[in-house]
Amino acid sequence: MSNVQDIAQLIVDKLINKLMTNVNRECVYVTELSKCAYYIYWLYNKSPIEHRINNFIIEGTLMHFVIEKIVKKLIEEGAVSPEHVKSEIDVEKEFNGITIKGRVDLIINDTIVEFKFTHNPRLIYGLPKVWHIAQVNLYMWMTGLRKGLIIYIHLPSLNVKMWKVSYDDELVSNRLSKVNDVMIAKHGKEVEKEMFGCDICPIYAQCRFARIDMFS
Ligand code: SF4
Repeated sequence: MSNVQDIAQLIVDKLINKLMTNVNRECVYVTELSKCAYYIYWLYNKSPIEHRINNFIIEGTLMHFVIEKIVKKLIEEGAVSPEHVKSEIDVEKEFNGITIKGRVDLIINDTIVEFKFTHNPRLIYGLPKVWHIAQVNLYMWMTGLRKGLIIYIHLPSLNVKMWKVSYDDELVSNRLSKVNDVMIAKHGKEVEKEMFGCDICPIYAQCRFARIDMFS
């Protein structure tokens, strides 16, 4: 390919693809399994387009690229060793015949590090949220590591809060028990409302107080 417009179009297509929440029905992602299975059903089957692409998703995606670049530069400058810091690590594990995939933001020594960028001050001043704790725990289960760290960054103020996360066998078992539900939700079948992490759920009001299909 050598035509300017063709190459530009290819890059734009790839960019848009990166910023969209696309459904891959061949596997379950950690970011899906760490959330209420009903939310995943709604997101892929009932949600208006703005829930699949919005400023928060774009911001989060771009920030992760920036982190990857920062780590790469620190390694090039010799400030940190690649033995101690790895970024954007792809992880994969089978469970009940279903492939679970994920991408860990950072692994520093023996610790899984997950960044969360937010405009919500409650994430900075409140306790860490169960969807995020579950996500880090699933990465621990997949990597065999047993230490975790969640870093919340409140973008309007750049305030930062870090939370250590311990391995929670019960929470991991709870999420693994939902692998089948998440997979069938991705294939369009309605699943039970789990009431798992309702306080952080973007569709709390619709889900708990009204019929979902009225909003789709
Ligand atoms: S409000 Fe609660 S039950 Fe409903 S989708 Fe969200 S987490 Fe699940």
